[in-house]
Amino acid sequence: MSEIFKFIELARQDPAKLAANVRKRRFEEIYSRYTSHQAAQQAGRCIQCGNPYCEWECPVHNYIPDWLKLIAEGKLAQAAELSNQTNSLPEICGRICPHDRLCESACTLNGGFGAVTIGAVERYITDSAIDLGWFPDLTNVTDTGKQVAVIGAGPAGLSCADVLARNGVRVDVYDRYAEIGGLLTFGIPEFKLEKAVIRKRRCILEKMGVNFTLKVDIGHDIPFETLLAQYDAVFLGMGTYSGIESGLPGDKLPGVNMALPYLVSSANHLLNIASDQAFINMADQRVVVLGGGDTAMDCNRTAIRQGAASVTCAYRRDADSIPGSHRERVHAEEEGINFLWNRQPLEIIGRDRVEGIRLITTQLGDADARGRRRPHPLAGTEETLEADAIIIAFGFRASPADWFAQHTVTTGDNGLVVTAGTDSDYPFQTNNPKVFAGGDMVRGSSLVVHAVNEGRQAASSIVQYLGLS
Ligand code: FAD
Ligand code: SF4
Repeated sequence: MSEIFKFIELARQDPAKLAANVRKRRFEEIYSRYTSHQAAQQAGRCIQCGNPYCEWECPVHNYIPDWLKLIAEGKLAQAAELSNQTNSLPEICGRICPHDRLCESACTLNGGFGAVTIGAVERYITDSAIDLGWFPDLTNVTDTGKQVAVIGAGPAGLSCADVLARNGVRVDVYDRYAEIGGLLTFGIPEFKLEKAVIRKRRCILEKMGVNFTLKVDIGHDIPFETLLAQYDAVFLGMGTYSGIESGLPGDKLPGVNMALPYLVSSANHLLNIASDQAFINMADQRVVVLGGGDTAMDCNRTAIRQGAASVTCAYRRDADSIPGSHRERVHAEEEGINFLWNRQPLEIIGRDRVEGIRLITTQLGDADARGRRRPHPLAGTEETLEADAIIIAFGFRASPADWFAQHTVTTGDNGLVVTAGTDSDYPFQTNNPKVFAGGDMVRGSSLVVHAVNEGRQAASSIVQYLGLS
């Protein structure tokens, strides 16, 4: 049979996954890496469509069929060079992109034969190449003498720095945390993304000439005007950090935690980073997590690994309507999380601390303006659940810095930074011509691959603005 019909004989095979009863007590990543043979076999299932929809569905438009073909032919170094041309963090996106909603959803083989395992192969390529000493080819890069400051070492800032360095621009990245990565390090838990992966990327960026200054809060430790005076341009990739509060009666009781401080405290604990914030440990607690997004799933699965007595996740719509990844929901179910679908919280109860939560069953009605069906509470269905700890994971709002307005960095009514559109001369430029911005602080709380894309596009825009192309 021709190689092009390999997908008929060879089924889709994801990398090996740790058994749920083993992994639910460990923080390490649950998927292992393909061997070179497995990667070549799975990559070889790609039928090399003339019009690769997967490329269009991928926000950074990775050259997916091209690097799949290179891997099928055993050409790892070439595949790594190509993969890193369109994506600044391919080994990270390969792990945590919701592939089932992005590239793999558009694969021609999806459905009937099973989509090509694009994410797992993308991860395999850069992980394996880095282990063999891969470093981007910078032979044609010459120093332009231009200097750019990047505020925020999350995926938007790191991707902006990567593209700027590849264009001969000197880059200084500032972050208030003790490590680079932003939410990659302090939000997303190790079982989805081990922190050693981010440390390897840091080594590559540093070798490319990117300089990191950490534990520095811009606007507090260093005034923003100092950066404006010192650099030819500034990129802001500062994320969104205001957790949406529940507004429920009782939500200030001891034992009620917001999702991000909870996850940050767990990351600090595991990374041995000293912090003013106490470690929040769910060992032996009956935990209720409110929400249905990726953050809620990460809280569920962190609590179970900390040894919680039980973890229940309540969401006001049904399982099909969660805003997060279905793959992560399945992982949580496998690890023993008890889901209560169609439940809306009414009140957190307790005298001196949390003792439980009152919920009401909902029924989904008509779709709202965003196409999501509205949950309607059903009278007479109230119930009380005993609990020792509640975690609120209702998403994030913008957290604009108080110095933005003073420097003509304009925000909309929702607090997100307003930037020029992709059809303008300088996409991602703010109302201050010298300042560019991207990632969650511009589009709102979203996905890593979107932050990567916007950091890269803003860098290209800065290169144009500086007259370098
Ligand atoms: P961030 O990652 O938030 O980085 C911003 C950086 O700016 C931070 O390091 C911060 O310290 C720094 N900073 C801010 N202000 C200052 C200042 N004044 N001075 C110095 N430094 C400053 N996406 C996925 O694709 N897949 C997932 O599985 C996934 N899971 C998630 C799980 C959780 C719990 C959360 C919270 C998010 C998740 N996301 C996921 C979303 C993803 O993490 C974000 O969309 C992405 O990190 C946004 O990147 P960013 O660079 O815009 O901001
Ligand atoms: Fe798929 Fe994300 Fe990789 Fe694009 S970056 S190919 S969407 S896994």
